[in-house]
Parts: sequence; C-alpha cells; structure tokens
Amino acid sequence: MYLHEFEYYAPMTAEEAFGLIGRLGSNAKVLAGGTDLLLMMKEKMLTPQYLIDINGVPEFQGISYEPAKGTVIGAATKIAEIEHSSLIKEKYFALHQAAGELGSVQVRSMATIGGNSCHASPAAETTTPLVALGAKVLLASDAGERELPLEDFILGNRKTALGEKELVSRFILPEPAPRSASCYGHIGLRNAMEIDAVNMAVNLVLEVSGRKIKELKLVMGSVAPKPLVSLEVPAILVGHELSDDLVEKAALAACGEAKPISDIRASAEYRREMVYVLARRLLYQAFNAAQEV
Ligand SMILES: Cc1cc2nc3c(=O)[nH]c(=O)nc-3n(C[C@H](O)[C@H](O)[C@H](O)COP(=O)(O)OP(=O)(O)OC[C@H]3O[C@@H](n4cnc5c(N)ncnc54)[C@H](O)[C@@H]3O)c2cc1C
Repeated sequence: MYLHEFEYYAPMTAEEAFGLIGRLGSNAKVLAGGTDLLLMMKEKMLTPQYLIDINGVPEFQGISYEPAKGTVIGAATKIAEIEHSSLIKEKYFALHQAAGELGSVQVRSMATIGGNSCHASPAAETTTPLVALGAKVLLASDAGERELPLEDFILGNRKTALGEKELVSRFILPEPAPRSASCYGHIGLRNAMEIDAVNMAVNLVLEVSGRKIKELKLVMGSVAPKPLVSLEVPAILVGHELSDDLVEKAALAACGEAKPISDIRASAEYRREMVYVLARRLLYQAFNAAQEV
C-alpha cells in the first residue's frame, strides 16, 4: 500500500492552479481532501506523476450567499463546513442532511464537496441532493469558465465531463422558491461507516394555496451509474395535493424507474424495495415541511 513517487504542487491562487493543470495535463491529478484519490493511488488504480493540491487557493474555499446568484460553495470546501453551515441548513436542508451522513467526523473534516462530485461514485452522498436542488458546477481553466448543471457534469460511474485542463472551482445553488422544502434519506446495511445501498433527495415547491404541488424533483442515488432524476414522480404529483393514493403510485413509479445492480452492498431487488420505502418517506416529509415554511 505504498504510494509511488510523484511531484507535489501547492498553488496559492486560482491562476497558478490553472497554469499548472494546463502545463501538466493528463499526468496530473487535483488533490482536494485525498479521501478517495490517495486510496486509489495506494491501490495503484491511479498513478499520477503530479498532484496539484488546491486546498491553499482561497477562491475554491467557503460558502457565500449572493442575492442575484444564490449560494456559491467553493469546490474545496470541506464537507464538515457544509454540515455545520446555518445557511445550508436553513436553505438547502437536503444537502445539510447528506453532508452529516458522509463517512465519519474524520472523513468529513478532510473530504470536499468538489471531490465527492468529481469522484462520481454512484453511491456519492452529496450529488443526489445537489442535483435535486438544481446545483450547477463551474468548470474553470486558463481559457475561462463554463457552467454545467451537475446532472450533466456526472456522466456515469467515475465519469465526468471535466476537461483535461479544467478543474471544478465552485458550485452554485439557486435561491430556494417560496413554500419549498427539500429532504434527504439513505439506507445502508448496518449502522456503521458504510457507503449507501440507496439514497434519495426530494425538493418540492407548493402553489400559493400551500396545498397543491407546483414543482417537484426526486433524485435517486446508487440505483444507476449516475444520480437518477425521476420523470414519472413529478408527472404523477405536480398539480395535485398529496394523498396516500398518489404517494403510493409515485413510490411504485420510482421503483420502476430505478435501474439498480446487485453488488456486495445489496441486491437489486432490495435496492428497488428501498426506493419505494424512501420515496414514500421523503415525499411526506418534504410536503409537510413545505407547508410549515
Ligand atoms: C472511510 C471513508 C468513508 C467514506 N464514506 C463516504 C460516504 O459515506 N459517502 C460518500 O459519498 N463518500 C464517502 N467516502 C468517499 C470520499 O470521502 C468522498 O467521495 C469525498 O467527498 C471525496 O472528496 P475529497 O476531497 O477527499 O476528494 P479527493 O480524494 O481529493 O479527490 C477525488 C477525485 O476528484 C478529483 N477532484 C477533487 N477535487 C476536484 C476539483 N475541484 N476539480 C477537479 N477534480 C477534482 C481528484 O483528482 C480525484 O480524482 C468515504 C471515504 C472514506 C475513506
């Protein structure tokens, strides 16, 4: 489990980081928390010649609220900072919940939000709520910046739309709509530091009356190569008040859309069943929470 030899760079500005990535290209890897990357290097799944540690770049750090834009989260922001942010808890509850579930206290104090999306594990904790909340990623390089919805950035299991000379600099979360609420849930096989067998996030907006659903996004994790955005659940629920019959129909529809595989963590059948359980639970939770806003 020894690391191979590599050159380590620690840029202090975004320009310096872009310059290094541009020059070193595919032989280099961005190092954020290292909680995925260093394990892959120890297991020789990746053997980059250069590591570019972005933790010292202030532009990639922190959480700020910009009224016209929404909330901006630097890609190198630690999961622990997101977990403990009162802004995130108040406006993006599903992300707050997911951040608190990732790994352990030790992992959360090292791991970053950018690393979680760039590693693109189908079971990633924060990508499901981020997609449900309408997050966009900013991809930056020497050539400038481009913006992509997170659901288009993640292409599959450990595949992203990141260009060779780009890094993820920030995430942008839109201002939540009035009378909206989001929530997150996950199922693991044991009460320990275990990657999710299934996770899910719901983001729901109510009409002015406060009874009918105006908009809804339900996103499932760990049941497809990338976060799976339900098309059928909004088609069933938008324009209606929540009723037991409709929740049942919607949860069954989500099950039908899920495309899980069987692996070491759970069978496909179990995952499908858990999609049903989580969909029911989170639809009621989000609806009730939106009525209380
Ligand atoms: C014990 C343990 C428990 C864990 N539990 C969970 C869990 O419950 N849920 C979960 O989702 N994950 C879990 N993980 C995985 C991991 O902690 C997360 O995926 C974490 O968010 C990765 O972030 P990082 O900053 O450590 O990324 P790194 O390891 O530094 O990087 C991961 C990948 O992303 C690239 N990268 C990182 N940042 C950028 C950027 N800004 N731009 C471009 N590329 C970038 C790196 O080059 C690398 O390829 C666990 C890991 C461990 C070791």
